[in-house]
Amino acid sequence: MTSPIRSIETVLVDIPTRRQHRLSFGTITAQNYALVIMTDEDGRIGLGEASTIGGPAWAEESTETIQIMIERYLAPHMIGADPQHLLRYARAMDVWVRGNRFAKAALQMAQLDLAARQLGVPAVQLMGGQVHDSIPLAWTLASGDTDRDIEEGEEKLAQRKHEIFKLKIGYGDPAKDVAHASRIARHFSGRARVQVDVNQAWDEACAVSSIAGLEEAGISLIEQPVARERLDVMQRLAHRFDTLIMADESLSTSADAFALARSAAADVFALKLTKAGGPWATLNTAAVAQAAGIGCYGGCMLETSVGTAAYLHCFSAIPAITHGCELFGPLLLVDDLVTEPLRMSEFSIHLHPGAGFGVDLDLAKLDFYRRDPRRVHIPMNGANHVVPRIHAS
Ligand SMILES: [Mg+2]
Repeated sequence: MTSPIRSIETVLVDIPTRRQHRLSFGTITAQNYALVIMTDEDGRIGLGEASTIGGPAWAEESTETIQIMIERYLAPHMIGADPQHLLRYARAMDVWVRGNRFAKAALQMAQLDLAARQLGVPAVQLMGGQVHDSIPLAWTLASGDTDRDIEEGEEKLAQRKHEIFKLKIGYGDPAKDVAHASRIARHFSGRARVQVDVNQAWDEACAVSSIAGLEEAGISLIEQPVARERLDVMQRLAHRFDTLIMADESLSTSADAFALARSAAADVFALKLTKAGGPWATLNTAAVAQAAGIGCYGGCMLETSVGTAAYLHCFSAIPAITHGCELFGPLLLVDDLVTEPLRMSEFSIHLHPGAGFGVDLDLAKLDFYRRDPRRVHIPMNGANHVVPRIHAS
């Protein structure tokens, strides 16, 4: 049964990571989230989440800007609206606010979750239904230490959790990076796929010499070797090497996807709901990939199980997802925000059953990890439920 949107709250949440996560632009020890809680007149809840890596270091938005864009410029338009009008509001958001795709994505996720819960169907069903029941799940080895990464990879293989390993490189001497990645690729040769993410750190000359070394060591894929705007360099690298070149920072909108496809500047597209501006924009990008014959990889921004479930429902509806995904965010965090963890086993992540995204908030955990001291009013069974604070702030 459908019912109008009554309230939209955006809560900032910080959760520490289990180990430091080292990338070309910084080291992460805690992840930040803007969690959107959308409630309808019958007390049903839809959840959305935008996560940023290193504040505004990866993209232009931070969780703080996301919260204010939603609260001040987006949410007020949607109070009283019918959440079933998914595309109508996704399009309207581009009129109300320019850019700010992470903020729009979080809000659209919450609307999608709520719309699906109102109908009692999984969210994937509103995106055309699932084409994947499960997706191969990568793990990122990013401790910054080669031996520790190898040990961590061996553990993941033995637990049958992951057989795709992504290495974060680009933060130091390129020759050392190549030696580090090559040693890991050779160690796991024939047992796991090893790929690297450079996060834009190299120039063209450095990329040419480094990728030659990585290719020789058996690295299967190079993610975003150079600056996001250098499609000309991406094109030359994709042409020059057999190792796959993947666009991540270079690809946000479907217009970016079209430009990349037209110039053959990437062999693989990394999809993320937040950078695209929501599930519908992600499906549009995937359609461009499919038309161009380009395979896709399900990326992440180290989401909690809320964002991860949203990504998973969307990726499960995309036939072009043929290179696996990295929806391991919840495994990197010391804790989560949901009552039931997502199912990850046999080297894959499995679509979560249940209405909407199939995840429910653990209110005590939300209260523990939320940043601001305000109490969140979450209607439970139609009544306002005030979550008690369980720790001093
Ligand atoms: Mg990346």
